[in-house]
Amino acid sequence: MDPTLSPLARGLRAGLDSDTAFSSIVPPIYLGTNFAFETLHSTPKYDYTRSGNPTRDLLGEGIATLEGGAEGIITSSGLSALMLCFTALVPASGRIIAPHDCYGGTWRLLQYLAETGHFTVDHVDQTDPQALTEALQHPTDLVLIETPSNPLLRPTDLATTVDKVHAAGALALADNTFCSPLRQRPIEFGTDIVVHSTTKFINGHSDAVGGALVAADAEVGEKLKLWANVLGITASAFDSWLVLRGLRTLDARVRIHDANAAKIVELLATHPATTTVHYPGLANHPGHEIAARQQTSFGSMISFEVVGGLAGVEAFCHGLRIFDIAESLGGVESLVAHPATMTHASMPHEVQLAAGITPALLRLSVGIEPIADLLADIRDGLERVLKVGR
Ligand code: PLP
Repeated sequence: MDPTLSPLARGLRAGLDSDTAFSSIVPPIYLGTNFAFETLHSTPKYDYTRSGNPTRDLLGEGIATLEGGAEGIITSSGLSALMLCFTALVPASGRIIAPHDCYGGTWRLLQYLAETGHFTVDHVDQTDPQALTEALQHPTDLVLIETPSNPLLRPTDLATTVDKVHAAGALALADNTFCSPLRQRPIEFGTDIVVHSTTKFINGHSDAVGGALVAADAEVGEKLKLWANVLGITASAFDSWLVLRGLRTLDARVRIHDANAAKIVELLATHPATTTVHYPGLANHPGHEIAARQQTSFGSMISFEVVGGLAGVEAFCHGLRIFDIAESLGGVESLVAHPATMTHASMPHEVQLAAGITPALLRLSVGIEPIADLLADIRDGLERVLKVGR
C-alpha cells in the first residue's frame, strides 16, 4: 500500500491490489482452515485459521488504520470483542466501570460475568463527571465508555474522561459502534482500546455479525490477539471478507446516512407527536458541544419519545412502509426499534427507567434510501401517533 495515501484511503482500500497470484484487484478470500509447513521446523506466517487468517488480517489492518491504532483484532461479534477485552485485561479480582445506559447486551454480559465471579462491575452515569470521579476512588482496571450511548445518544467527553481513567491507573475502552471510525476516532482522545460491533456501520449490509478491537498500543494489541486465539472467538474468513467488502463504502454510506438523519430530525423535532428527540446534532441537546468537539458528524441514529406511551409507539410502528421493526442498526436499510422490549429487554424495568429508557422511546437507524420516501414514512407514522395519543 502506498504510504503517501491518507489513512482514510489506506483503511478503506485495505488489501486492494495485493493479490500476487493473478493481480485480482480485490483480495482473494482464504477459506482454508490450515496452512502447510515447509518443514517440521519452519512455522509459516499462517498455520491455523483460528489463530491467524490472511483475509481476517486485512480487515483488522483496515479498521486499525481508520481508527489510528496499532493493532486490529477481528472477532465473531461485537459482544465477543467486549468479552475478549474483559477476559484479557481484567483479572478475576478486578473491577470494571461501565455506563448505566449502555447497550442491553453489553449490560447483560457484564452482569452475567460479575454474577459468576469474574470481576466486579459498577454502572455509572458517565455524563456526570462527579459520579465518575467518585467511582474512580475505588481501584479500577477498565472503564468502558459508550459514546454516544445506545439508545439515548448521550455523548461522553472522551478527552476528560480518559484523563481521569488514566490518572486512576485504569484502561479506557471506547465503544465506537454508533459512530464508526468515520465519525469519531477515540484513540485521538487518548483511549487505549476501541471496540466495534462491525455488524453495524462497518459492514453496513446486515449480512454478517462481527466485532473488532483496535488497540492504540502494540503490546496491548498483541495480548488481545493472543487471547482471541486462546478463547477461539476470532471471526471466520468469509464473514471477514464480507465486512471488508462493506468497509470499502463506509465513507460514502455515512455521508448519505447522516444527511438523511438530519432531515428526519428536523421533522421529528417540530412535530407535535414527539415529546423529546435525542440527537446530539440538535443545538439544545445536552451533549451537543461534546459531540461537536469529538465527532466529525452527528450520525444517523436518532431516538425519540412519542405522545400516548405504548399506544403511540404501536401506532407509529404498525404501518411503516420502509422502516422495518428490527434490532440492529447501521445498515443501508432504515430500521426502527423499541429499546424497552427489544435491544434493552435484558435490563430490568427499573434499570431501564433509571437509564432513561421509557416505554415511549423509539430508536431509528436511518438508512440510505431516498429521503423523500423516508420522510413520508415517518410523517405518516407520526400522524398515526397523534390519532391515538392526543
Ligand atoms: N455495542 C453496541 C453499541 C451495540 O449496539 C451492539 C449491538 O447492538 C454491540 C456492542 C454488540 O454487538 P454484536 O451484536 O455484534 O455482538
